[in-house]
Amino acid sequence: MLWSGWGDPAGAVELPEAVRSLLRDLLGVRAPSTPAVGLEEVRPAEVVLAPSVLDELRAVVGAGHVRSDDESRIRHTRGKSTPDLIRLRAGDASRAPDAVVLPGSHDEVLRVLRVCSGHRVAVVPFGGGTSVVGGLSADGHGFAGVVALDVGRLDRLVSLDTESMVAELGPGLRGAEAERLLGEHGLTLGHFPQSFEYATLGGFAAARSSGQASAGYGGFGDMVVGMTVATPRGTLDLGRAPRSAAGPDLRQVILGSEGAFGVITSLRLRVRRSPAERHYEGWRFASFSEGAAALRRLAQDGPLPTVLRLSDETETMIGLARPEEIGEPVAGAGCLVVAGYEGGPLEVAETRERAAAVLSELGGTCLGTEPGQAWARGRYAAPYLRDALLAEGATVETLETAGFWAVLPRLYEAVRAALTASLGAPLVMCHISHVYATGASLYFTVVTAQEEDPVAQWERAKRVVSEVIVAEGGTISHHHGVGRDHREAYAVEIGELGGEILRGIKERLDPEGVLNPGALIPSS
Ligand SMILES: Cc1cc2nc3c(=O)[nH]c(=O)nc-3n(C[C@H](O)[C@H](O)[C@H](O)COP(=O)(O)OP(=O)(O)OC[C@H]3O[C@@H](n4cnc5c(N)ncnc54)[C@H](O)[C@@H]3O)c2cc1C
Repeated sequence: MLWSGWGDPAGAVELPEAVRSLLRDLLGVRAPSTPAVGLEEVRPAEVVLAPSVLDELRAVVGAGHVRSDDESRIRHTRGKSTPDLIRLRAGDASRAPDAVVLPGSHDEVLRVLRVCSGHRVAVVPFGGGTSVVGGLSADGHGFAGVVALDVGRLDRLVSLDTESMVAELGPGLRGAEAERLLGEHGLTLGHFPQSFEYATLGGFAAARSSGQASAGYGGFGDMVVGMTVATPRGTLDLGRAPRSAAGPDLRQVILGSEGAFGVITSLRLRVRRSPAERHYEGWRFASFSEGAAALRRLAQDGPLPTVLRLSDETETMIGLARPEEIGEPVAGAGCLVVAGYEGGPLEVAETRERAAAVLSELGGTCLGTEPGQAWARGRYAAPYLRDALLAEGATVETLETAGFWAVLPRLYEAVRAALTASLGAPLVMCHISHVYATGASLYFTVVTAQEEDPVAQWERAKRVVSEVIVAEGGTISHHHGVGRDHREAYAVEIGELGGEILRGIKERLDPEGVLNPGALIPSS
């Protein structure tokens, strides 16, 4: 993974000239005054963690699995939000952990937590490092140091129960690797977020992730039938049946807890048979509202495709849903729907035919398979474009929310208005990519010219938008999580009593408060 950007450096893309001129002429983007620094130029702060504590950690996990060299520390600094990348590109490695610790078993995780609690060392669980909500940037203030607890060595397919269709997998497995391992058995999880190549199963659970095929396979939380969690107070083993009426479901306390309550060391996940057929196609609707009405009908009355997404007019025109063709404006293209069907040939044909009848009835025009296939080919490509845009002097960032169908149109307009008011004349694009009978998520991509201090510029806009989202009845996150960036808005969503409950759980599981301090839990 590129340390200050996304993905395999070999996958870096050049911006097409059409996009560069759009940035220059439409948004006033100018080349940044200082180019990005190289990894060798970045100097993290001195390690403050006492050598004796490092020795204790080495005694638990082995000397080779405690790293305090600059490169390891920098590679575990922050996540992959645009402000994270802008800071790293400028050589700012503040918030670098003092050390990276890589335990090899649940028992070692427990012992690492014991050492860190005993010395009041902050612990940031680290999966793929793709958090976009400040989930990984612990402030060591008031602690004896900060360690990143990287679960990368817990990366096995531990067991497979094909009778129950349950797989036990290590939290350090990246999405793509988990799919490869399951694929050898003709199985799939069906979890394909855009960060799929790098994000881990533990991170998906800890941030309540949702993938691009959530209409068919559900969000990641729906796949978790059980989990093992290491906490400073001991082990939690949760989930022993497909459903239980035995009191509140404690798995839900850990899902979305972002390392603040414990470290997920094992996941038992529902798996499905790999689909024999995948059919993706495009549809055109005249407007976002007409397209949204069609998605709502499918979500409420069926049949529901496996993938279902709708780009608004701007996103369709820019071509973001088909990154291979980005920048080739399609004037008057209306709004693109991508509908994907996965399963056996008969099931795919039958569902597709029934869904197509609904989409046609509600005003859609079928564009055939090409736009759907173009989306599928480019579905992991957009993050590479972000690096190229940053280098050009543009800020590009995403944000997302969800709401009931009845509030979505207002929420959509309010977010767009807030972004425009805060950023001048940004390019704002949106799509609906996760649908439910009662509502859907809205996913915005914003492009704007960078000011002198682009981080402050974005943080200002983000604050305003977060307030608007909560005020308009949306949730602060459908699938990115809370981290540090959404903590205040989350506090408003759950109210004072909700915050007290979370603090109570935190005190019980993590009495020294060492786990990911500053993330998730509203301050009192
Ligand atoms: C380009 C890009 C595209 C993205 N697309 C999507 C998308 O389509 N859908 C989506 O849902 N998200 C998306 N995300 C967000 C991100 O990938 C998800 O939040 C993902 O779940 C994070 O996984 P990770 O392994 O990288 O976790 P990390 O970033 O390493 O950690 C995330 C949080 O979980 C905690 N954590 C990590 N592992 C554990 C563990 N084992 N136990 C306890 N806590 C842990 C961390 O402390 C942190 O608070 C995207 C991000 C990027 C940069």
